[in-house]
Amino acid sequence: MRLSTLFTKTNKEAPKDELSINARILMQAGFIDKVSAGVYTYLPLGFRVLKKIENIIREEMDKVGGQEVLMPALTPKKVWEQTGRWENFDALFKLIGSDSREYALGATHEEIVVPLAQQHIFSYKDLPVYIYQIQDKFRNEKRAKSGMLRGREFIMKDMYSFHADEADLDIFYKEMQKVYFKIFERCGILDSTYLTFASGGAFSKYSHEFQTVTAAGEDDIYICGDCKIAVNEEIIKDLNNKCPNCENKHLNKEKAIEVGNIFKLKDRFSAPFGYEYIDEAGNKKPIIMGCYGIGLGRLMGTIAEVHHDDKGLIWPKEITPYTVHLIEVNAKDVEENNKIKLTAEKLYKDLQESGIGVLFDDRGDNVSTGAKFADADLIGCPMRLVVSERTLNNDSVEIKKRNEEEKELVKLKHIARDVK
Ligand SMILES: [Zn+2]
Repeated sequence: MRLSTLFTKTNKEAPKDELSINARILMQAGFIDKVSAGVYTYLPLGFRVLKKIENIIREEMDKVGGQEVLMPALTPKKVWEQTGRWENFDALFKLIGSDSREYALGATHEEIVVPLAQQHIFSYKDLPVYIYQIQDKFRNEKRAKSGMLRGREFIMKDMYSFHADEADLDIFYKEMQKVYFKIFERCGILDSTYLTFASGGAFSKYSHEFQTVTAAGEDDIYICGDCKIAVNEEIIKDLNNKCPNCENKHLNKEKAIEVGNIFKLKDRFSAPFGYEYIDEAGNKKPIIMGCYGIGLGRLMGTIAEVHHDDKGLIWPKEITPYTVHLIEVNAKDVEENNKIKLTAEKLYKDLQESGIGVLFDDRGDNVSTGAKFADADLIGCPMRLVVSERTLNNDSVEIKKRNEEEKELVKLKHIARDVK
């Protein structure tokens, strides 16, 4: 992508009406645009990050046998009445169609996926099944806040697992904990993310959240340093301030953001639909379920909170919009300047041909060199390449990693190899 043609611009200052760090920095760097409170547009740079996060999640879901579907956002009232959630679901976004019927914009999809599974999965031979989607969700929050963390519209991966019994659910539930950590590892937040015990509601002792420690987190968690697990605020008193694993009483309180959650639903949603299967002996048994969520925008916001400094973003390599930020530094001498331009153009082409994503600052002398460098830091690609009169005198390009101060001259002929 050429910065001369990218239709969005960075801003010199962070937006004044936005309080949360994640939204401020992502807006300033031109990744998202705020449409209204809790509602954002993903701009080209932000959309690339979103798609990379989406693909990581999709790959990991597919690896455990997940089958992807896309359910509608617009859902009829009657399925929500069947589970009792039309009245009881917090912040369900309700609306009336011109047919005078009532609808909800889906905040979660048990009410759609259970009747769907019911049409196809009848026998113990069909089980287990894991159905997931990556889709827009809605919550009618009274006050949307915390930028990307608590939106009125947000993109989620939600998976629903269907099992013959609780033992099978328990095995898959454990496996999904590992899968979630794999996703957070690939997204660059493994070290600061904790499996966190949360209330299981009426049907299970615990559910689990994945909480990422960051100063701007909206939740308080209590970390056991011995077990590397945490407990959330909601249940810490019920546990007498002890680690549920080792009874350690010296837990560290930290601010954190919830980046994922997993629940054992058991028959909470299969029972209201009368959903049973036929077991090996020919008897009817209740279908047992689990559900597994990750908010993609929330994850992107969390990564921005964890990986930035006072100059801007510092993207982990698997989810960066581009690997390389290439800058041409213009020279006064016309002939020298042409040489710089030709070299930078060739580098742009060669790197892309070797499969490396490049954001090319080709804005010439319309933009000062200082502003180009500031934009590179703000946008936060992991590697900055500079072509200038000085580097060309050495047949070289200057390489600098976004998270390091050290600069290095690398010979032009070795550059694709060194970037890789
Ligand atoms: Zn412990």
